[in-house]
Amino acid sequence: MFEAVIGLEIHLALRTGSKMFCGCAAESLGLLPNVNTCPVCLGLPGSLPVVNREAIEKALRFSLALNCQVPEVTQFHRKHYYYPDAPKNYQISQFDRPVGEHGFVELEAGRRIGVTRCHVEEDAGRSVHPPYAPYSLVDLNRAGAPLIEMVTEPDLRTPEEAREFLVKIRAIAQALDVSDASPEAGKMRADVNVSIRLPGEALGTKVEVKNLNSFKSVQNALAFEIKRQTDLLESGRSVLQETRGWNEGGQRTYSMRSKEETADYRYFPDPDLPPMRVAEKWLETVRAATPELPDAKRERYRELGLRAFDAGLIAFDVELATFFDRAVRVYEGEAQLLANWLNGDVAGHLNANDLALSRSKLSPENLASLLTLVDEGAISGKTAKDVLPLVIDGGDPKTIVEERGLKQITDLGAIEALVDAVIAANPAVVERVKENPKVINVLLGQVMKESRGKAKPDAVRELLNEKLG
Ligand code: ADP
Ligand code: MG
Ligand code: ZN
Repeated sequence: MFEAVIGLEIHLALRTGSKMFCGCAAESLGLLPNVNTCPVCLGLPGSLPVVNREAIEKALRFSLALNCQVPEVTQFHRKHYYYPDAPKNYQISQFDRPVGEHGFVELEAGRRIGVTRCHVEEDAGRSVHPPYAPYSLVDLNRAGAPLIEMVTEPDLRTPEEAREFLVKIRAIAQALDVSDASPEAGKMRADVNVSIRLPGEALGTKVEVKNLNSFKSVQNALAFEIKRQTDLLESGRSVLQETRGWNEGGQRTYSMRSKEETADYRYFPDPDLPPMRVAEKWLETVRAATPELPDAKRERYRELGLRAFDAGLIAFDVELATFFDRAVRVYEGEAQLLANWLNGDVAGHLNANDLALSRSKLSPENLASLLTLVDEGAISGKTAKDVLPLVIDGGDPKTIVEERGLKQITDLGAIEALVDAVIAANPAVVERVKENPKVINVLLGQVMKESRGKAKPDAVRELLNEKLG
């Protein structure tokens, strides 16, 4: 039947010190309105933009990571439109000479998704619509902040693939320190383009769904659109080319505007910003300074012995990966064990308490030392799980174990005394063991209880077996 054809347009807020063309801070979170501004980003007459070198360098780093070709010369254009939160009445963007083009990203299954282009542009301000007032307000703190826009070829085929692609782009952007790429914080936004067709046929009419700010809503909006378009075609009607919005509450797309003619932005080269030559030497420096990419990380984790699932989970989360790398350096046991704890109990505890790993007081060294206590037989795995919350709160595992007297009893003499006492106190159970050897577990449980969980279960079982034949 029908197959979906999907292309994405993704905006990433660049993580730089200053805005794209002036010295104001790129990040204005939590500031009073309009304090993070200057004549340049306010668009005052006579002010002149100056290109932020850090932004270009990060955009180049990102483009290269997406296997893009970097043109010898890159250039800024003015893209004209009239919005209250864009004081110049144009946005400085790039047109036919972006920082990167003709790239690709490979999905897990090996499919290559074409990256049409990557360009740099400035963000707009924000219109604020106070619920108490019949007017709107404009906050220009964000105006002129640096953005990367990347556009893909219509190569994606399913909502799941689109999501996988976004996860990968986020991982790359974070690993390269190019962007926080957090949709929740508005640092990553996606518009999705989707059409359907019979396989092998020409592209169908596309619909663009705008401003999706979570990966989940991208996936849901796509699924909804594919169903809507399929129903239309199956009932003999046709798909209208239009821009739609996403209603999160109703989980449906709605028509915003039909797009008969494309907007004329009257692009022209910005006369204040001459074309920039990207010297091969500069590119080499950028390449050399590029940190390890998520795919390479995952490969390295596989070589450390991690299962594919854990390797991917850690490699694609820059915070986890940084933590894991530090822990692996000091932990002498198996890396997979570390991954089990990190992706299992640690993640579970953090989630349950709505804590980010970076915000918790858990250090890689302390996690490694907790696992080492288990490996050495000083504590049981169960005890380790019990004290994990204290370690996540910044406690030193060795101190906790000492202070609370949680060390396993490894002294065979002491365990034997306990075993003897339990046998003596439970003659009836001992009788039943003779008929059913499994009943020995009752005695084992009793010994563990008497030792308050500190006897080594293996040693207890061995002693019980020995004594009861
Ligand atoms: P527009 O001029 O409407 O912005 P573009 O050609 O710039 O269209 O493409 C925008 C995005 O839409 C790209 O990601 C592209 O891959 C995707 N796209 C183009 N045609 C289709 C189609 N028929 N179905 C789905 N996606 C498409
Ligand atoms: Mg477009
Ligand atoms: Zn400014």
